[in-house]
Amino acid sequence: MNSHHRPSSPSGTNLDPWYNNYADRAAGLSVSEVRALFAVASRPEVVSLAGGMPAVSALPQHLVVESMAKVMAEQGSVALQYGSGQGVPRLREHILDVMAQEGISGSVDDVVVTTGSQQALDLVTKLFINPGDVILVEAPSYVGAIGVFRSYQADIEHVLMDDDGLIPEALREAITRVKSSGRTIKFLYTIPNFQNPAGVTLTAQRRVEILQICRSEGILVLEDNPYGLLYFDGPPPAPMRSTEDEGVIYLGSFSKTFAPGFRVGWAIAPHAIREKLVLAAESAILCPSSFSQLVISEYLSTADWKSQINTFRGVYEERKNTMLAALAEHLPEMTWTKPNGGFYVWLTLPDYLDAKQMLPRAVTELVAYTPGTAFYADGGGRNKIRLSFCYPTPDQIRLGIRRLTTVINSEIDL
Ligand code: PMP
Repeated sequence: MNSHHRPSSPSGTNLDPWYNNYADRAAGLSVSEVRALFAVASRPEVVSLAGGMPAVSALPQHLVVESMAKVMAEQGSVALQYGSGQGVPRLREHILDVMAQEGISGSVDDVVVTTGSQQALDLVTKLFINPGDVILVEAPSYVGAIGVFRSYQADIEHVLMDDDGLIPEALREAITRVKSSGRTIKFLYTIPNFQNPAGVTLTAQRRVEILQICRSEGILVLEDNPYGLLYFDGPPPAPMRSTEDEGVIYLGSFSKTFAPGFRVGWAIAPHAIREKLVLAAESAILCPSSFSQLVISEYLSTADWKSQINTFRGVYEERKNTMLAALAEHLPEMTWTKPNGGFYVWLTLPDYLDAKQMLPRAVTELVAYTPGTAFYADGGGRNKIRLSFCYPTPDQIRLGIRRLTTVINSEIDL
């Protein structure tokens, strides 16, 4: 899928009359078989351990209604109007308060509000990537980022991780490999906390080392941190952005600590990049939703959002514990990661099993998961599975793992 050249439509197999008119960058935009299966998996009787949907039912919805009503009563004409391309100033101040929880300081001017951090991923990639430029990406990595990188025809170069996150030595090797092939590295994309999909966290020592490597090699770091506040035992090490301003673009989001439906995230970037980001955002969407931004701002100034995040932590930790206990009970001979926060567990099957090929059987047994190959750009992850514990209840998680065990055991017996 890294090819920049699209084969012309095999006659009779493609029903789209415009097939030959698409830009090259559209070639990476295809519906995966996995996605098609998920349509079936959304039936209520299927336990889905597949998606990364936050548990919005743990958010008292009356608080949202109150914030919306207050915004409309007091600032209706602002909420319904276009606004600044960089985002509502008051919300940008609140974003500084949220980031201060993780040790990041900055000024209101540094913050760019985006339509989810997904849009920030898109804008940063648009600003930096020419076709064939290299992005260093953890192996495995967030499927939505891989999709964006592909859509700008980047070459994705995976860098190995272990239980302590990205391996600095592997990063050095990847840089040497890419440079000796004459290609240009534009940035390193990393999710240091409770990584999606692996559930692992980058150690403090490695953060320092990775920043040193990137600084000395002149490589920009794109630090994506939507899960950092959702820790269980204790907070993760401070974000890289807290110690390095000039070489790091940092992405945050309200999707997991509040609600994804508002589609509000943000980027904080070195000054010159920030100016370009705002121009790119304006050309993409003019401005982020004024209504969403004002409602979130109202919620943050009137509700006890810190204790709400605590509630989310409790909900997710219980679900994580349930999932790990069920795995230990039913699949003791397999291995899996033990996340200290976030939404995901990464399960390793025996290497002769193929998780993608097993998925239709799993759906027949009424359980869904995301096969590991979705998180690699190079076909890796064949015997890996991402299990999400964020959305199903503990009872559903137990049932889902039991069903998954039936499927795995029957594959092993074949
Ligand atoms: N980055 C990562 C690592 C994610 O897991 C997600 C959502 N699953 C996003 C970015 C995008 O989140 P949003 O656009 O809702 O802020």
